[in-house]
Amino acid sequence: MHIAFTASECVPFSKTGGLADVVGALPRALAALGHQVSVYIPRYRQTKLTDPQTVVRSITVPFDDKYRFCSVVTAGPSAGVKFYFVDYPPYFDRDALYGTTAGDYPDNAERFALFSRAVLEASKVLGVPHVFHCHDWQSALVPVMLRTLYAEDPAFREVATVFTIHNMGYQGLFPPDTLPLLMLPWDLLTISKMEFFGQVNFLKGALVYSDYVTTVSKKYSQEIQTTEYGFGLEGVLRTRAATVAGILNGVDYDEWNPQTDKFIAAKYSPQDLSGKLKCKQDLLQAFGITNVDTKVPVIGIVSRFAAQKGFDLIAQIMDRLAHEEMIMVVLGSGDKLYEEMFQRLNKQFPNKIAAKVAFDNAIAHKIEAGADMFLMPSRYEPCGLNQIYSLKYGTVPIVRATGGLDDTIEPWDARTGKGTGFKFSDYNGEALLTTIKHALLAYQDPSSWQTLMRNGMSRDFSWGASAREYGKVYERARQVRASADAVAAADLKKEPVLG
Ligand code: ADP
Repeated sequence: MHIAFTASECVPFSKTGGLADVVGALPRALAALGHQVSVYIPRYRQTKLTDPQTVVRSITVPFDDKYRFCSVVTAGPSAGVKFYFVDYPPYFDRDALYGTTAGDYPDNAERFALFSRAVLEASKVLGVPHVFHCHDWQSALVPVMLRTLYAEDPAFREVATVFTIHNMGYQGLFPPDTLPLLMLPWDLLTISKMEFFGQVNFLKGALVYSDYVTTVSKKYSQEIQTTEYGFGLEGVLRTRAATVAGILNGVDYDEWNPQTDKFIAAKYSPQDLSGKLKCKQDLLQAFGITNVDTKVPVIGIVSRFAAQKGFDLIAQIMDRLAHEEMIMVVLGSGDKLYEEMFQRLNKQFPNKIAAKVAFDNAIAHKIEAGADMFLMPSRYEPCGLNQIYSLKYGTVPIVRATGGLDDTIEPWDARTGKGTGFKFSDYNGEALLTTIKHALLAYQDPSSWQTLMRNGMSRDFSWGASAREYGKVYERARQVRASADAVAAADLKKEPVLG
């Protein structure tokens, strides 16, 4: 089967979060199963390409104000996957992917509408796939355009669409007059289509028009059908529950594996954990923490600084946690509020809490390897990747039992020696503090702690199984499309003949 991914980021070309890891790895796993896979992404300023070749010279994208002309280039390591980059410097040659600290770019609707339409046009030249697999609001217009602007286009008659929600919290909300600007029909502005409290909601459009919807863990696929986690779209999802699936993200062990990791001070394995101590020393040095006993447990955090990630809970308990025997190292960037919070804590508790405000892949690897525990107290977490990386590095996760965190971490039971981490359910500081203290206590028993580490290191979250599940979803999406087409053809026959 030919599957075309459309997404706004992809490792190693562009990344702000887990979406990029998924779009970097899943296509390769699908190719290994024998599928033909293309990946369409924008060409940003950050996208470094060796020897790019233009494959589609000029695509016309009509907007109401004027025509825009973009091109498509190909490049990059392929491993059986073809990468295509939509090139339109006025939209994508910018400092960041989606916006700056001042806020989102004001023309994001136009930027990703152009991207979506360019993908459809380019595919007519480069090969129309059996399935477009679209990700998050930035490529949500692909299914919308296919069933509206391109509904009569014979090139796309049999194309099915699968849409994956990586985070329900980001929906792509724009004012109503965005529709005519993008040449989309006004009738999309109704409650059964894209209207959402007076605005146009790109994500909602994809949920309405895709043949199949997936999200990145089973638990999250259930959570987003509730008011607490649905961000107002729970009703839309519930109406199509029969075509919604949760498939856990895999991880790329070529990149995240302490036996081969090129960013860490010493390699180690479940059989020989000795290198982890060197990694810990190296990590402490990288964060400027000196003269501490390496027996003191280190708690690591690598995260976007966003309200979703549970930093308000950390703020509630930090003064008390700082009096425990532990060190905390934090890498993150995003919300100013949390950047300042960690910088303040850094000053207040020097040599105990250290933070780097940056997006730095090498440091992220060093934390995974050098920390003893990894903290993710998220309010919600569609899948979460860092806790899965942590398992592989013998860095014990402490997580809130939500979404993919709940699906991937099994609670530690010292009596049976079973489990891989520590979990709490209630979203409050006390529950978090109690759980961290529980982990710090367990760390005092080195032999059972090593059992806990090895339990996690032995878990396998590679992409193979999830890629096979996606293969089944693509088949089902094609069946959904074929039966929708059959219904439409039958309706057409029923139309009264005029005259
Ligand atoms: P999300 O997609 O919500 O940000 P995930 O856990 O799914 O969360 O994925 C986050 C990815 O981004 C991981 O690969 C993580 O290592 C990486 N990451 C997040 N923040 C940083 C940072 N400040 N520096 C380097 N990598 C980061």
